[in-house]
Amino acid sequence: MDILVIGGGASGLAAAVSASSAARVTVLEKEERPGKKILATGNGRCNLMNDGELKYFHGEEFAKAVLGSDGPRRLRAFFDGIGLNVMSRAEEDGRVYPATHQAASVLDALRAACARGGVRFIPSSPADSIESRGGAFRVRAGGEWHGADKVIVCCGSPAGTGERKGSYGLLTGLGHPMIPLVPALCPLECDMRSLGALKGLRLPAAVTLKADGEPVAQAGGEVLFGDRGLSGIAVMQLSADAAARPGAHVTLSLDLSPLLDIAPRDHFHFISGRDAFRSPGDAEALLAARLSLLPREDLFTGLLPRVLAGVVDRGRPGVKELARRLTDFTLTVTGVRADAAQVMRGGIDTALFDPRTMESRRVPGLYCAGEMLDVDGDCGGFNLMFAFLSGIAAGKSCVL
Ligand SMILES: Cc1cc2nc3c(=O)[nH]c(=O)nc-3n(C[C@H](O)[C@H](O)[C@H](O)COP(=O)(O)OP(=O)(O)OC[C@H]3O[C@@H](n4cnc5c(N)ncnc54)[C@H](O)[C@@H]3O)c2cc1C
Repeated sequence: MDILVIGGGASGLAAAVSASSAARVTVLEKEERPGKKILATGNGRCNLMNDGELKYFHGEEFAKAVLGSDGPRRLRAFFDGIGLNVMSRAEEDGRVYPATHQAASVLDALRAACARGGVRFIPSSPADSIESRGGAFRVRAGGEWHGADKVIVCCGSPAGTGERKGSYGLLTGLGHPMIPLVPALCPLECDMRSLGALKGLRLPAAVTLKADGEPVAQAGGEVLFGDRGLSGIAVMQLSADAAARPGAHVTLSLDLSPLLDIAPRDHFHFISGRDAFRSPGDAEALLAARLSLLPREDLFTGLLPRVLAGVVDRGRPGVKELARRLTDFTLTVTGVRADAAQVMRGGIDTALFDPRTMESRRVPGLYCAGEMLDVDGDCGGFNLMFAFLSGIAAGKSCVL
């Protein structure tokens, strides 16, 4: 049996390895070398899976069906099988990396497994058309036609590539609808006038995204102040919701209670390295108690980073207003750093794919895996975990 895999990224390489024991596999890759994006993941460390609770946004049900109850265990078994040494104990929030802490080890292990399986690579071959006739396929790539019994489409998303369009036309051309793309997991540009002193500050916060004053989404975790706006896990998680509201007045409200070691006002799920907060949060009571012990000029000494105290205490307001500033520190969002998006929300609608096999319900013999589908997960390894496991499922089931 001849299998064509289009795209040699995380899902395509996993699919190629999985199919290679029982078929002749060829990978068509647009770039000169496969797996370029893998090398950029996790700041070069490749956060390749997550052992914790599953966190997917769009396509959550589909992702859960693909991963099943034992996705992380099966993925570890796959990595063991190709000789990749993966950390046995997860880091904070369930993040798992290769034991070498180098993304290059992941790509090397995948490529070596492909080589052992006799997988053929055709680099610099962007596929632009798939034809299905009489149960067989033809794929045009770089001006040449390639025949196959089955095709696995693994073209990923344009996130992080500098491109805009992606290769979705390969599947929409065969009747698979597409959900519009929105950049996700990216920094947000904010009005930073008068906040320049905060550049470089990292704070734990509970963040609420509001559109025209109405709360839209919330996230908890680290917030990082930059030149042009905010990043950090909590902000990245909210970025797709901001991007989806282009005409609205979008703001971020930072509840800095976790910085004061008190639980955030709204008590929504807050991810932090801490076991517990001192109390279920009353910033005003905390400040009043400090004022009864300390002179006014030392109210924030030892409580807040000095630069933050300088901003919060501007005009020396009373305790009530200070508490408000600390629990509703509001910034106006002026843009979305789509160029720095780690993933795209949207993509090929999962409704026409079987999550057990990744086969199209419309075109038998055609499979899709990875981020090209409308599945996006949280920071922490969820996107690569979906890409690898959906690729493995496609590769295995197409040779059954
Ligand atoms: C900077 C950055 C950091 C990230 N860090 C993490 C992380 O630590 N953990 C995590 O879980 N996720 C991370 N992600 C997301 C993760 O990299 C992707 O979700 C994942 O790579 C998707 O795998 P994929 O196989 O679907 O697509 P990709 O890995 O993008 O692979 C797609 C491949 O298809 C090729 N291709 C595209 N179109 C064609 C065509 N027409 N013909 C032939 N070939 C084609 C591409 O060149 C590419 O090689 C990060 C993303 C970025 C941008």
